[in-house]
Amino acid sequence: IKNIGVLTSGGDSPGMNAAIRAVVRGSIYYDIEVTGFLRGYEGLINNDFIPMDRKSVANIIQRGGTILKTARSEAFKTVEGRKTAYENLKANGIDALVVIGGDGTFTGANVFSKEFNFPIVGLPGTIDNDLAGTDFTIGYDSAINTVVDAVDRIRDTAESHDRLFIVEVMGRDSGLIALRSGIGVGAEAIMIPEANMNADDILHKLEHSRKDKASKIIIVAEGDDTGGAFKVGEILQEKYPHYDTKVSVLGHIQRGGKPTCMDRVLASRLGVVAVEGLIQGESGVMVGQINREIVFTPFDHAIKHINAEKVSSKWLKLIDILSF
Ligand code: ATP
Repeated sequence: IKNIGVLTSGGDSPGMNAAIRAVVRGSIYYDIEVTGFLRGYEGLINNDFIPMDRKSVANIIQRGGTILKTARSEAFKTVEGRKTAYENLKANGIDALVVIGGDGTFTGANVFSKEFNFPIVGLPGTIDNDLAGTDFTIGYDSAINTVVDAVDRIRDTAESHDRLFIVEVMGRDSGLIALRSGIGVGAEAIMIPEANMNADDILHKLEHSRKDKASKIIIVAEGDDTGGAFKVGEILQEKYPHYDTKVSVLGHIQRGGKPTCMDRVLASRLGVVAVEGLIQGESGVMVGQINREIVFTPFDHAIKHINAEKVSSKWLKLIDILSF
Protein backbone atom coordinates (compact mmCIF):
# COMPACT_ATOMS: atom_id res chain seq x y z
CA ILE A 1 0.00 0.00 0.00
CA LYS A 2 1.41 3.37 -1.05
CA ASN A 3 -1.32 5.87 -0.38
CA ILE A 4 -4.24 5.63 2.06
CA GLY A 5 -7.28 7.88 1.72
CA VAL A 6 -9.10 8.91 4.89
CA LEU A 7 -12.55 10.48 5.30
CA THR A 8 -15.23 11.18 7.90
CA SER A 9 -18.86 10.58 6.92
CA GLY A 10 -22.40 10.79 8.34
CA GLY A 11 -23.01 12.50 11.68
CA ASP A 12 -19.90 13.97 13.30
CA SER A 13 -18.73 12.82 16.71
CA PRO A 14 -16.14 14.06 19.22
CA GLY A 15 -12.94 12.10 18.68
CA MET A 16 -13.11 11.99 14.88
CA ASN A 17 -10.14 14.40 14.78
CA ALA A 18 -8.15 12.16 17.09
CA ALA A 19 -8.95 9.27 14.74
CA ILE A 20 -7.83 11.23 11.64
CA ARG A 21 -4.62 12.15 13.44
CA ALA A 22 -3.94 8.52 14.30
CA VAL A 23 -4.55 7.35 10.73
CA VAL A 24 -2.26 10.07 9.34
CA ARG A 25 0.54 9.55 11.86
CA GLY A 26 0.18 5.76 11.63
CA SER A 27 0.46 5.84 7.83
CA ILE A 28 3.50 8.10 7.89
CA TYR A 29 5.16 5.86 10.48
CA TYR A 30 4.82 2.93 8.06
CA ASP A 31 6.04 5.03 5.09
CA ILE A 32 2.65 5.31 3.48
CA GLU A 33 1.33 8.54 2.03
CA VAL A 34 -2.05 9.70 3.23
CA THR A 35 -4.73 11.81 1.56
CA GLY A 36 -7.68 13.42 3.32
CA PHE A 37 -10.97 13.52 1.39
CA LEU A 38 -13.36 16.31 2.33
CA ARG A 39 -17.05 15.92 3.23
CA GLY A 40 -17.20 12.16 3.33
CA TYR A 41 -18.06 10.29 0.14
CA GLU A 42 -18.79 13.63 -1.57
CA GLY A 43 -15.02 14.24 -1.51
CA LEU A 44 -14.37 11.01 -3.40
CA ILE A 45 -16.94 11.87 -6.06
CA ASN A 46 -15.93 15.54 -6.41
CA ASN A 47 -12.20 14.77 -6.21
CA ASP A 48 -11.95 17.14 -3.27
CA PHE A 49 -8.91 16.20 -1.22
CA ILE A 50 -5.85 17.43 0.63
CA PRO A 51 -2.50 15.65 1.00
CA MET A 52 -1.82 15.20 4.70
CA ASP A 53 1.48 15.32 6.57
CA ARG A 54 2.42 15.10 10.25
CA LYS A 55 1.85 18.81 10.72
CA SER A 56 -1.63 18.83 9.13
CA VAL A 57 -2.96 16.95 12.17
CA ALA A 58 -1.05 18.88 14.81
CA ASN A 59 -3.12 20.37 17.64
CA ILE A 60 -6.40 18.64 16.71
CA ILE A 61 -6.57 15.72 19.16
CA GLN A 62 -8.50 17.90 21.63
CA ARG A 63 -10.92 19.40 19.12
CA GLY A 64 -14.52 18.30 18.53
CA GLY A 65 -15.99 18.01 15.02
CA THR A 66 -13.86 16.91 12.09
CA ILE A 67 -11.22 18.91 10.20
CA LEU A 68 -12.08 16.86 7.09
CA LYS A 69 -15.74 17.95 7.36
CA THR A 70 -18.52 15.44 6.94
CA ALA A 71 -21.60 15.10 4.78
CA ARG A 72 -24.34 12.76 3.72
CA SER A 73 -23.89 11.83 0.06
CA GLU A 74 -26.88 10.77 -2.00
CA ALA A 75 -24.63 10.38 -5.08
CA PHE A 76 -22.60 7.63 -3.38
CA LYS A 77 -25.77 5.54 -3.16
CA THR A 78 -25.81 5.35 -6.98
CA VAL A 79 -23.66 3.07 -9.14
CA GLU A 80 -22.52 6.04 -11.25
CA GLY A 81 -21.50 8.00 -8.16
CA ARG A 82 -19.44 5.13 -6.83
CA LYS A 83 -17.85 4.56 -10.25
CA THR A 84 -16.70 8.19 -10.35
CA ALA A 85 -15.35 7.79 -6.81
CA TYR A 86 -13.38 4.70 -7.86
CA GLU A 87 -11.96 6.39 -10.95
CA ASN A 88 -10.83 9.38 -8.88
CA LEU A 89 -9.16 7.13 -6.34
CA LYS A 90 -7.31 5.25 -9.06
CA ALA A 91 -6.28 8.46 -10.84
CA ASN A 92 -4.85 9.80 -7.58
CA GLY A 93 -2.95 6.60 -6.82
CA ILE A 94 -4.95 5.85 -3.66
CA ASP A 95 -4.94 2.12 -3.01
CA ALA A 96 -6.85 1.81 0.27
CA LEU A 97 -9.34 3.77 2.39
CA VAL A 98 -10.07 4.34 6.06
CA VAL A 99 -13.66 5.54 6.57
CA ILE A 100 -14.74 6.99 9.90
CA GLY A 101 -18.49 6.98 10.56
CA GLY A 102 -21.55 5.00 11.58
CA ASP A 103 -23.76 2.31 10.09
CA GLY A 104 -24.67 4.27 6.94
CA THR A 105 -21.01 4.94 6.24
CA PHE A 106 -20.18 1.24 6.62
CA THR A 107 -23.12 0.22 4.42
CA GLY A 108 -21.67 2.41 1.67
CA ALA A 109 -18.12 1.17 2.30
CA ASN A 110 -19.31 -2.42 2.14
CA VAL A 111 -21.00 -1.98 -1.24
CA PHE A 112 -18.04 -0.04 -2.65
CA SER A 113 -15.32 -2.38 -1.46
CA LYS A 114 -17.12 -5.42 -2.92
CA GLU A 115 -18.03 -3.66 -6.17
CA PHE A 116 -14.45 -2.61 -6.98
CA ASN A 117 -12.49 -5.04 -4.82
CA PHE A 118 -11.10 -2.00 -3.02
CA PRO A 119 -9.49 -2.35 0.44
CA ILE A 120 -11.40 -0.43 3.11
CA VAL A 121 -11.19 -0.50 6.90
CA GLY A 122 -13.77 1.37 8.99
CA LEU A 123 -13.47 3.18 12.31
CA PRO A 124 -16.61 3.42 14.47
CA GLY A 125 -17.20 7.17 14.72
CA THR A 126 -20.67 7.88 16.08
CA ILE A 127 -22.11 9.16 19.35
CA ASP A 128 -24.83 6.48 19.22
CA ASN A 129 -22.71 3.42 20.14
CA ASP A 130 -25.08 1.39 17.94
CA LEU A 131 -22.52 -0.81 16.18
CA ALA A 132 -21.68 -4.44 16.77
CA GLY A 133 -18.01 -5.36 17.08
CA THR A 134 -16.97 -2.75 19.61
CA ASP A 135 -17.90 -2.11 23.23
CA PHE A 136 -17.86 1.62 22.57
CA THR A 137 -17.82 3.83 19.51
CA ILE A 138 -15.64 6.94 19.19
CA GLY A 139 -17.71 9.87 20.49
CA TYR A 140 -20.11 7.98 22.72
CA ASP A 141 -18.21 8.65 25.95
CA SER A 142 -17.91 12.37 25.14
CA ALA A 143 -21.62 12.61 24.30
CA ILE A 144 -22.79 10.92 27.50
CA ASN A 145 -20.48 13.12 29.55
CA THR A 146 -21.98 16.18 27.88
CA VAL A 147 -25.45 14.87 28.79
CA VAL A 148 -24.40 14.17 32.37
CA ASP A 149 -22.94 17.65 32.73
CA ALA A 150 -26.13 19.27 31.35
CA VAL A 151 -28.48 17.14 33.46
CA ASP A 152 -26.47 17.83 36.64
CA ARG A 153 -27.22 21.50 36.05
CA ILE A 154 -30.87 20.74 35.42
CA ARG A 155 -30.94 18.70 38.63
CA ASP A 156 -29.82 21.74 40.64
CA THR A 157 -32.73 23.82 39.45
CA ALA A 158 -35.18 20.88 39.53
CA GLU A 159 -34.28 20.27 43.17
CA SER A 160 -34.81 23.90 44.14
CA HIS A 161 -38.30 24.02 42.64
CA ASP A 162 -39.60 20.47 43.25
CA ARG A 163 -39.74 19.95 39.55
CA LEU A 164 -40.24 16.93 37.34
CA PHE A 165 -37.88 17.26 34.39
CA ILE A 166 -38.19 15.33 31.14
CA VAL A 167 -34.89 15.54 29.30
CA GLU A 168 -34.64 14.40 25.69
CA VAL A 169 -31.30 13.09 24.47
CA MET A 170 -30.13 12.00 21.00
CA GLY A 171 -30.82 8.50 19.68
CA ARG A 172 -33.35 8.14 16.87
CA ASP A 173 -33.02 4.37 16.80
CA SER A 174 -30.84 3.78 19.81
CA GLY A 175 -31.40 4.27 23.53
CA LEU A 176 -27.78 3.77 24.50
CA ILE A 177 -27.05 7.45 25.20
CA ALA A 178 -30.18 7.62 27.39
CA LEU A 179 -29.33 4.39 29.17
CA ARG A 180 -25.82 5.18 30.35
CA SER A 181 -26.34 8.89 30.99
CA GLY A 182 -29.56 7.99 32.83
CA ILE A 183 -27.59 5.84 35.25
CA GLY A 184 -24.90 8.52 35.51
CA VAL A 185 -27.33 11.27 36.54
CA GLY A 186 -29.42 9.11 38.84
CA ALA A 187 -32.53 9.39 36.68
CA GLU A 188 -35.83 8.10 38.06
CA ALA A 189 -36.55 6.40 34.75
CA ILE A 190 -35.46 6.25 31.14
CA MET A 191 -37.54 5.79 28.02
CA ILE A 192 -35.78 4.13 25.10
CA PRO A 193 -36.90 2.47 21.86
CA GLU A 194 -35.42 -0.92 22.84
CA ALA A 195 -37.46 -1.26 26.04
CA ASN A 196 -40.94 -0.75 24.54
CA MET A 197 -42.00 1.45 27.42
CA ASN A 198 -44.93 3.82 27.28
CA ALA A 199 -46.04 6.69 29.49
CA ASP A 200 -48.10 4.31 31.68
CA ASP A 201 -44.96 2.40 32.57
CA ILE A 202 -43.33 5.66 33.56
CA LEU A 203 -46.33 6.62 35.68
CA HIS A 204 -46.03 3.27 37.39
CA LYS A 205 -42.31 3.79 38.01
CA LEU A 206 -42.85 7.26 39.41
CA GLU A 207 -45.49 5.96 41.77
CA HIS A 208 -43.05 3.36 43.01
CA SER A 209 -40.00 5.56 43.21
CA ARG A 210 -39.09 7.49 46.33
CA LYS A 211 -41.95 9.78 47.31
CA ASP A 212 -39.78 12.07 49.39
CA LYS A 213 -37.51 13.01 46.54
CA ALA A 214 -37.91 16.68 45.64
CA SER A 215 -36.86 16.46 42.01
CA LYS A 216 -37.42 13.79 39.45
CA ILE A 217 -35.60 13.36 36.17
CA ILE A 218 -36.76 11.21 33.29
CA ILE A 219 -34.39 10.73 30.36
CA VAL A 220 -36.15 10.14 27.04
CA ALA A 221 -34.35 9.00 23.88
CA GLU A 222 -35.39 10.93 20.76
CA GLY A 223 -36.69 7.75 19.13
CA ASP A 224 -38.80 6.59 22.04
CA ASP A 225 -42.21 5.13 21.09
CA THR A 226 -44.29 7.70 22.98
CA GLY A 227 -43.23 10.44 20.57
CA GLY A 228 -40.52 12.39 22.35
CA ALA A 229 -40.07 14.41 25.52
CA PHE A 230 -42.85 16.95 24.94
CA LYS A 231 -45.46 14.22 24.53
CA VAL A 232 -44.24 12.45 27.67
CA GLY A 233 -44.26 15.80 29.51
CA GLU A 234 -47.91 16.41 28.58
CA ILE A 235 -49.01 13.01 29.81
CA LEU A 236 -47.12 13.27 33.09
CA GLN A 237 -48.28 16.83 33.79
CA GLU A 238 -51.86 15.63 33.55
CA LYS A 239 -51.28 12.82 36.02
CA TYR A 240 -49.01 14.75 38.38
CA PRO A 241 -50.43 18.29 38.44
CA HIS A 242 -48.72 18.93 41.78
CA TYR A 243 -45.38 18.67 40.01
CA ASP A 244 -44.12 21.55 37.99
CA THR A 245 -43.23 19.55 34.87
CA LYS A 246 -40.58 20.93 32.50
CA VAL A 247 -39.19 19.59 29.26
CA SER A 248 -35.66 20.14 28.05
CA VAL A 249 -34.31 18.93 24.70
CA LEU A 250 -30.52 18.83 24.72
CA GLY A 251 -30.09 18.62 20.92
CA HIS A 252 -26.86 19.22 19.07
CA ILE A 253 -24.73 20.21 22.06
CA GLN A 254 -24.38 16.44 22.48
CA ARG A 255 -22.37 16.18 19.28
CA GLY A 256 -19.95 19.01 19.99
CA GLY A 257 -17.22 19.82 22.44
CA LYS A 258 -13.88 18.38 23.44
CA PRO A 259 -13.59 14.60 23.26
CA THR A 260 -13.02 12.89 26.61
CA CYS A 261 -9.73 11.14 27.26
CA MET A 262 -11.53 7.79 26.78
CA ASP A 263 -12.54 8.78 23.25
CA ARG A 264 -9.12 10.23 22.41
CA VAL A 265 -7.37 7.04 23.49
CA LEU A 266 -9.88 4.78 21.71
CA ALA A 267 -9.60 6.83 18.49
CA SER A 268 -5.80 6.86 18.69
CA ARG A 269 -5.52 3.14 19.19
CA LEU A 270 -8.11 2.14 16.58
CA GLY A 271 -6.74 4.65 14.05
CA VAL A 272 -3.27 3.13 14.08
CA VAL A 273 -4.69 -0.41 14.03
CA ALA A 274 -6.79 0.48 10.96
CA VAL A 275 -3.58 1.31 9.07
CA GLU A 276 -1.83 -1.83 10.33
CA GLY A 277 -4.91 -3.85 9.35
CA LEU A 278 -4.77 -2.55 5.78
CA ILE A 279 -1.06 -3.38 5.59
CA GLN A 280 -1.85 -6.92 6.76
CA GLY A 281 -4.51 -7.30 4.07
CA GLU A 282 -7.68 -6.64 6.08
CA SER A 283 -10.61 -5.26 4.09
CA GLY A 284 -14.36 -4.85 4.40
CA VAL A 285 -14.07 -4.73 8.17
CA MET A 286 -14.55 -2.33 11.04
CA VAL A 287 -11.91 -2.22 13.73
CA GLY A 288 -13.25 -2.14 17.28
CA GLN A 289 -12.32 -2.93 20.83
CA ILE A 290 -14.03 -5.61 22.90
CA ASN A 291 -12.87 -6.27 26.47
CA ARG A 292 -9.76 -4.20 25.71
CA GLU A 293 -8.83 -6.46 22.77
CA ILE A 294 -8.72 -5.29 19.16
CA VAL A 295 -11.33 -7.00 16.98
CA PHE A 296 -11.96 -6.82 13.22
CA THR A 297 -15.64 -7.24 12.38
CA PRO A 298 -17.00 -7.56 8.81
CA PHE A 299 -19.10 -4.50 7.87
CA ASP A 300 -22.14 -6.78 7.32
CA HIS A 301 -22.06 -7.74 10.97
CA ALA A 302 -20.97 -4.37 12.44
CA ILE A 303 -24.09 -2.68 11.06
CA LYS A 304 -26.50 -5.26 12.46
CA HIS A 305 -28.53 -3.53 15.10
CA ILE A 306 -27.54 -5.17 18.34
CA ASN A 307 -28.79 -2.46 20.65
CA ALA A 308 -30.99 -4.96 22.41
CA GLU A 309 -27.88 -6.89 23.45
CA LYS A 310 -26.07 -3.78 24.57
CA VAL A 311 -29.14 -2.56 26.46
CA SER A 312 -29.98 -5.90 28.11
CA SER A 313 -32.47 -6.13 30.96
CA LYS A 314 -29.80 -6.03 33.68
CA TRP A 315 -29.14 -2.37 32.92
CA LEU A 316 -32.83 -1.50 33.01
CA LYS A 317 -33.19 -3.33 36.30
CA LEU A 318 -30.25 -1.38 37.70
CA ILE A 319 -32.12 1.86 37.11
CA ASP A 320 -35.21 0.43 38.81
CA ILE A 321 -33.22 -0.72 41.82
CA LEU A 322 -31.42 2.59 42.21
CA SER A 323 -34.52 4.76 41.95
CA PHE A 324 -36.74 2.58 44.12
P1 ATP B 1 -24.47 8.44 12.14
O1 ATP B 1 -25.00 7.11 12.57
O2 ATP B 1 -23.55 9.04 13.12
O3 ATP B 1 -25.51 9.38 11.61
P2 ATP B 1 -23.85 7.28 9.57
O4 ATP B 1 -22.56 6.88 8.99
O5 ATP B 1 -24.81 6.19 9.89
O6 ATP B 1 -23.53 8.16 10.83
P3 ATP B 1 -25.51 8.11 7.35
O7 ATP B 1 -25.93 9.48 6.90
O8 ATP B 1 -26.54 7.09 7.60
O9 ATP B 1 -24.57 8.34 8.61
O10 ATP B 1 -24.55 7.53 6.21
C1 ATP B 1 -23.44 8.28 5.72
C2 ATP B 1 -23.30 8.15 4.24
O11 ATP B 1 -23.03 6.78 3.87
C3 ATP B 1 -24.54 8.48 3.43
O12 ATP B 1 -24.75 9.86 3.27
C4 ATP B 1 -24.19 7.82 2.09
O13 ATP B 1 -23.30 8.60 1.35
C5 ATP B 1 -23.48 6.55 2.55
N1 ATP B 1 -24.44 5.43 2.49
C6 ATP B 1 -25.40 5.10 3.38
N2 ATP B 1 -26.12 4.04 2.95
C7 ATP B 1 -25.60 3.69 1.75
C8 ATP B 1 -25.90 2.68 0.77
N3 ATP B 1 -26.90 1.80 0.95
N4 ATP B 1 -25.13 2.63 -0.35
C9 ATP B 1 -24.14 3.52 -0.54
N5 ATP B 1 -23.82 4.49 0.32
C10 ATP B 1 -24.51 4.58 1.45
